[in-house]
Amino acid sequence: MAASEIDERLVGELRDRGLRVTPQRIVIHRALCSEARHMTAEQVLASVSDVLPGTSLPTVYSTLELLESLQLVRRVGTGNGAVVFDSRVEPHAHTVCRRCGTMADLEGTAAPDDALGRASDAGFVPDHAQLVVWGLCRDCAATDG
Ligand SMILES: [Zn+2]
Ligand SMILES: [Zn+2]
Repeated sequence: MAASEIDERLVGELRDRGLRVTPQRIVIHRALCSEARHMTAEQVLASVSDVLPGTSLPTVYSTLELLESLQLVRRVGTGNGAVVFDSRVEPHAHTVCRRCGTMADLEGTAAPDDALGRASDAGFVPDHAQLVVWGLCRDCAATDG
């Protein structure tokens, strides 16, 4: 997606809800739509600090929460306590490298629908389920041992 389209989508969502369009919101959203895409709040802060000096971690968190409420980013738990924000919001599974921490999308796998069904059967009201496959990425596996 072109940078202008990325901005337009965010500006449209903000205006629809009567929310202000601020440089922080624009720049943080852009950072998440960049190549890296799976980013912790700390990584987002590091990537925007050149453009927005003085931005604090709480500001980054509150902006990420806003983007999440607009359904422009999704929160993904990596299973080791870290939370990563993902600008790809449709359900998809991830791989996480236990050595270098790299998270990547796993193509061709649906959300674990079976787990959602079982949760419903048990009287739970599920939002969504996320599948994370742990192991070693290609690079780390190549240098393993
Ligand atoms: Zn790795
Ligand atoms: Zn992803």
